Amino acid sequence: MRIVSSIAAMQRLAKQWQRAGQRIGFVPTMGYLHAGHLSLVREARKRAGRAGRVVVSIYVNPTQFGPKEDFSKYPRDLKRDLKLCRAAGVDVVFTPGNNEMYPDGTCSRRCESADEPRFDKRGYSTCVVEERLSQSMEGASRPTHFRGVTTVVAKLFNIVLPDVAVFGAKDWQQATIIKRMTADLNFPVKIIVAPTLREADGLAMSSRNKYLAGNLRRQATVLWRAIQAARFAIRKFPVPQHRLKAQLKRLIESEPNAKLDYIEFFNSETLVPVSTVRFRTHMALAVFVGKTRLIDNGRL
Ligand code: AMP
Repeated sequence: MRIVSSIAAMQRLAKQWQRAGQRIGFVPTMGYLHAGHLSLVREARKRAGRAGRVVVSIYVNPTQFGPKEDFSKYPRDLKRDLKLCRAAGVDVVFTPGNNEMYPDGTCSRRCESADEPRFDKRGYSTCVVEERLSQSMEGASRPTHFRGVTTVVAKLFNIVLPDVAVFGAKDWQQATIIKRMTADLNFPVKIIVAPTLREADGLAMSSRNKYLAGNLRRQATVLWRAIQAARFAIRKFPVPQHRLKAQLKRLIESEPNAKLDYIEFFNSETLVPVSTVRFRTHMALAVFVGKTRLIDNGRL
């Protein structure tokens, strides 16, 4: 397994593979890998084939974190990640530094307004923005988040040159936006969305679960319990969304340290909210458990 941190070296490798007719499977991550990430790696291997190449990127992308979010605290353990990738049969781990990705600083403020006083005239100043699907849910709660995600994923696609890229259903809105961006900007990449891996008690695996100390870990299962409760509530007939939202908010906030950020019910593909929740409606939610913000989703 090779560890590559230069963009030029990664592109050179990818072009070599392309010339040799090898398919490239790609899994972008922020590291602190868990079994959910590794299931995406297995999917990428399946899609690339035995003769193909699998690349995992490990990059905690600063531009997708808000100013008050956990960028500096985000868990990191590259040594352990590399060991897991090696065992999973990854060919290349791409771990660029911030200067490599965003020379002379990030674009986090620059894209908002060019006459922002802190606008830096040098260096990085281009962003990719999806305009419709990014407005709701995570986009409403974290206004600059998806701009950071689409920008870094577009850059990574141009660096890794994948034939297929695998994303997790855990971040349903993100995967939907990436599919839209890929189609809109004509990236020659097939996007695969792989199922959410869960702990035995239903908690969706996440690098942020590391923050859940003591009793918070048990309380965190309330996201999964809310999805299950929604499935139960609509098992016989459809329910107005506001009624189900109120019921689930009560369930969630019956946990002493849980605070609901949002629950939405929507069409799986378009993300358009529905007024009545029924079989196959998609549900997504974000909940603060202590200081940790967790998200989950599922088709009902
Ligand atoms: P992250 O490192 O959190 O940015 O996640 C990298 C990729 O792994 C994203 O496509 C996530 O959707 C995916 N992922 C995160 N958690 C899970 C999980 N529990 N099951 C499946 N995929 C996941």
